Amino acid sequence: AGSGKFFVGGNWKCNGTKDSITKLVTDLNSAKLESDVDVVVSPPFVYLDLVSSSLTDRIEVSAQNSWIGKGGAFTGEISVEQLKDIGCKWVIHGHSERRHIIGENDEFIGKKAAYALNEGLGVIACIGELLEEREAGKTFDVCFQQLKAFADVVPSWDNVVIAYEPVWAIGTGKVATPQQAQEVHVAVRDWLKKNVSEEVASKTRIIYGGSVNGSNCGELAKQEDIDGFLVGGASLKGPEFATIVNSVT
Ligand code: PEP
Repeated sequence: AGSGKFFVGGNWKCNGTKDSITKLVTDLNSAKLESDVDVVVSPPFVYLDLVSSSLTDRIEVSAQNSWIGKGGAFTGEISVEQLKDIGCKWVIHGHSERRHIIGENDEFIGKKAAYALNEGLGVIACIGELLEEREAGKTFDVCFQQLKAFADVVPSWDNVVIAYEPVWAIGTGKVATPQQAQEVHVAVRDWLKKNVSEEVASKTRIIYGGSVNGSNCGELAKQEDIDGFLVGGASLKGPEFATIVNSVT
């Protein structure tokens, strides 16, 4: 881990029921979590209010998406103002499932991130390459292009956490090696240094996501430029998620 405060996010995606989520919140509320870690969980919209009102203050709550601007006649969307109203502090944008399954592009993702930041939410800004892009030697190009789309519009980097999530590692059980992740994190930091500022490069947290679990988090967390994790599957199990939080070195 680097010098910034370790950050671990749990992305629950489109999983859970009232029963399973209540149990997960109970497990999280009783978990022993290292104090020097920012911990955030991201439930599905319909359970956000339930989670934010029953979860310990030690853990913040994130949405998995937010609308591009103020609410109104946008059927099926949720506004940043509504998220803030229920105590939500963060939102995830650029997740590979939204890019590649839902079809969101860089421009749309950038607008949503910029609006959320302008209104005071923190943004977990996700980037990452597909397997064929890695195999074609385009990992850095793809990541830098996605990063640039955020950089072009964010009002400030103060409330941004960058999540590097290689698409081939998400939900596949095929975690990136610590060296593979570290290599991209260094490149991302270097890109920020050259294209934004030295200060932003050194203070922005770059977290890794993609099949992180209780067994592989320790080695990853030792890497100098891995400042935390975004966790999908393993965040649905309270004790395992706590192990990942506590992998901070
Ligand atoms: C994610 O969805 O952000 C993720 C990293 O998922 P998983 O941990 O299940 O690979």
